[in-house]
Amino acid sequence: MRGASVEFVDSMTAAQAEEQVASWLRTTDRVTVLTGAGISTESGIPDFRGPQGVWTKDPAAAALFTIQNYVADPEIRIRAWRTRRDSPAWTAEPNAGHRALVELERAGKLRALVTQNIDELHQLAGSDPDLVIEVHGTMRWAGCLDCGLRTPMPEVLARVEAGEADPPCLRCGGIQKSATISFGQSLDAAVLAAATRAATDCALFLAIGTSLQVYPAAGLCDYAVGAGARLVVINAEPTPYDEVADAVLRAPIGELLPRLVSAAVGARD
Ligand SMILES: [Zn+2]
Repeated sequence: MRGASVEFVDSMTAAQAEEQVASWLRTTDRVTVLTGAGISTESGIPDFRGPQGVWTKDPAAAALFTIQNYVADPEIRIRAWRTRRDSPAWTAEPNAGHRALVELERAGKLRALVTQNIDELHQLAGSDPDLVIEVHGTMRWAGCLDCGLRTPMPEVLARVEAGEADPPCLRCGGIQKSATISFGQSLDAAVLAAATRAATDCALFLAIGTSLQVYPAAGLCDYAVGAGARLVVINAEPTPYDEVADAVLRAPIGELLPRLVSAAVGARD
C-alpha cells in the first residue's frame, strides 16, 4: 500500500530512513539509479532548476536555447559555443557521491545508471560506461545536425578559440551542436528505451539529485513503481514524487551516498 508507506516515511527520523534504505541496498543486487544536476553541484557545476539554478534565475535564457532558435539564429549559436567553452564542467572533478555509485557498481548491485547530466562525471569517477545511460546526451561530444558526424568537443572548441565563432561540420559544412538534448528536441529513442527497461527491471530505484520535473526522465519513477520496485528519492528540495516514494532522504549527496553505500556493502579501501 503506497498510502500507508507515506505515513511510515513521515514518522521515520532521517537516521531511521537512512538505515532503512541501506538495508534495501544490502538485500538487492538490482538497483537502478537516476541522477540529476544535484549530484554534480558539489563538483562546482550549477544546476538548472534548483533554487539557485541557471533557469530559475534567468528563465529567458532557457527560452533562448531551443533547437529552433539555434538552427535559425547564428548569434544564438555563437553565444552557445562561448557558453560551452566557458563551462565549469571542463575543470570539474567527480565528487564523493559519484565515487559511491562506483562502489555500489563494484559490489555488483548496479543494474543501470541513468543520468540527466551531460558532464560525464560518472564515467570520470570510474563508472562502467556500458552501465551509464545518458538520456540528455553529453557535452563532451559535438554532433553535426545535418550528417550526424560526431567530433570530440575539445576539438571543436579549439576551433572556437582559434577564431571560428560558429565552427561548421568539417565533413559537410552543416551546423554543429553539442551532442545534448536541447529544448524542443526529442530524446534518442534507443536511449530512452534502455532507460525505460532499466526502470522497469529493477528492485530498487534511486532518484538522486533530480527535481523530477522533466519528462520523460521523471516518468522513469512511474515505470519503476508500476513494475513493483521500491522508490527512494534523494534530493535537497521536495519533488513531485516524494508522496509515492518509499523513502525520501535530504542530506547532502556527497555525504549521504558514501554513508549509505558503505552501510550497505561494507567499508572498502
Ligand atoms: Zn556534417
